[in-house]
Amino acid sequence: AARLAGRAATTPVWVSDVEIGGPGFTVIAGPCSVENRHQMLTTAREVHACGAHAIRAGAFKPRTSPYAFHGLGDAGLGLLAEARERTGLPLVTEVVDVRDMERVAQAVDMVQIGARNMQNYALLREAGRLRMPVLLKRGLAATLDEWLLAAEYVLDGGNEQVVLCERGIRTFETGYRFTLDLAAVVVLKERTHLPVIVDPSHAAGTRGRVLPLALAAAAVGADGIIVEAHHDPSAALCDAAQALPTSDLAELMRRLLPAAQSA
Ligand code: PEP
Ligand code: MN
Repeated sequence: AARLAGRAATTPVWVSDVEIGGPGFTVIAGPCSVENRHQMLTTAREVHACGAHAIRAGAFKPRTSPYAFHGLGDAGLGLLAEARERTGLPLVTEVVDVRDMERVAQAVDMVQIGARNMQNYALLREAGRLRMPVLLKRGLAATLDEWLLAAEYVLDGGNEQVVLCERGIRTFETGYRFTLDLAAVVVLKERTHLPVIVDPSHAAGTRGRVLPLALAAAAVGADGIIVEAHHDPSAALCDAAQALPTSDLAELMRRLLPAAQSA
């Protein structure tokens, strides 16, 4: 992350042996969802080959429609463990229900609280009981104050390993999926010591927009990105249009290298 004027010192969060908020720019990549063994292991291998630092994939998916694919659940956690075994990369996955927290926390290296649950205070309190990294995504309509207070719920429980993730907010604009608020990164860097990463994928909505938004995130001083990638995007069960083929992820990693090195 570039050292910019006005930045508060960042307290790094370690996800296994991967540092977020240190001198480097961290890339977490993987499919929206764990879909099956072949998909998960193939994508994980390719994500690793691209040089990404950690793997993302949802086993429990918060979906707008109750009829959509909601993930493989515990079977998905098992496939994630296999992906970690093969690649050595740490895992990030979402928890959507307090009843799943303990099992999810035991299975992965960082627990994600998604945008739709940013103000699920029971879930935040439960995350506060953990002693492991939590990725807290910004709510669809959350102000920076509301987001920081949500983070406080986790910190107040004694868990200080919180990373914030800007993933786009709901505005009047319909020309893309969500409005990526990169000014939020700049302001959070003034206001909090917590690392801040950006999810360009859910804001972009389509894959062609992901690379420029990811480069912009690096330019404004984000500590990293979490980006959706799939070994065969056309077959993806969730968020197919925004999934990068791993060849595009490789290109993104090359383009991010100068940002990572100037950290
Ligand atoms: C996700 O990361 O797949 C996800 C559901 O993100 P968000 O909570 O930001 O919509
Ligand atoms: Mn997704």
